[in-house]
Amino acid sequence: MRAILLGPPGAGKGTQAETIVKEFSIPHISTGDIFRKNIKEGTELGKKAKEYMDQGKLVPDDLTVELVKDRLQQDDCKKGFLLDGFPRTIYQADALEEALKSMDQKLDYVINIEVRKELLVERAVGRRVCKDCGQTYHTKFNPPSKDGICDNCGGDLQQRKDDTEETVANRINVYEEQTAPLIDYYTKKGILINIDGEKPIDEVGKDIVAKMRNKIV
Ligand code: ADP
Ligand code: ADP
Ligand code: ZN
Repeated sequence: MRAILLGPPGAGKGTQAETIVKEFSIPHISTGDIFRKNIKEGTELGKKAKEYMDQGKLVPDDLTVELVKDRLQQDDCKKGFLLDGFPRTIYQADALEEALKSMDQKLDYVINIEVRKELLVERAVGRRVCKDCGQTYHTKFNPPSKDGICDNCGGDLQQRKDDTEETVANRINVYEEQTAPLIDYYTKKGILINIDGEKPIDEVGKDIVAKMRNKIV
């Protein structure tokens, strides 16, 4: 299974990725997570990415594409993969297609999680992430049993630096201008699956798995 998760910031891509990768036993490749890891470790890539991410802008295409190409060549991607947050521009989508072609591979599905704009800011601003294991929660929609503490590992929950109201609003604009055109791009290729992302988390997960298993595009 080779699939992509598409959707605006806060739509639930990371949350649903967990269900999908378990179901299909494939690696989860989140460009946002990779950039955040590099920032934490203070790498050159992290330093470059940080200035864009803090403003809610996209990291330049060349940096992002190289990173993903390298990742897709690793052994665990032979059985497939789930890309989360990549591609985000038509340029990235074209580069991905070319890279896959050179490996004799092609995409099976693009899962487009649809959530109205009005709901996105509340989702992103209430997002909390475990600093140790990366598990995602929401203060209102998916709270941990103990305030501020991860159910999985007991780690502290943190708010992402770019999950402020202002930066989320920027990211939504960037999404509409640069990423939303991918909906058309993949519809034309006949591989886009639309998902109602406004349902509760477990229902969204069931809908995605059912459509992927039954090849409903
Ligand atoms: P969200 O889950 O809210 O959509 P991500 O964690 O996917 O956010 O991305 C956070 C930030 O990382 C983006 O705002 C952007 O700066 C950068 N980023 C992630 N993926 C890409 C990409 N494919 N191209 C360019 N920038 C990216
Ligand atoms: P993305 O990766 O698309 O930016 P996340 O998966 O991180 O989005 O979800 C954003 C926030 O919204 C998180 O706090 C998450 O717990 C919450 N969330 C995700 N899916 C739903 C849903 N279906 N209903 C309510 N809240 C959700
Ligand atoms: Zn944890």
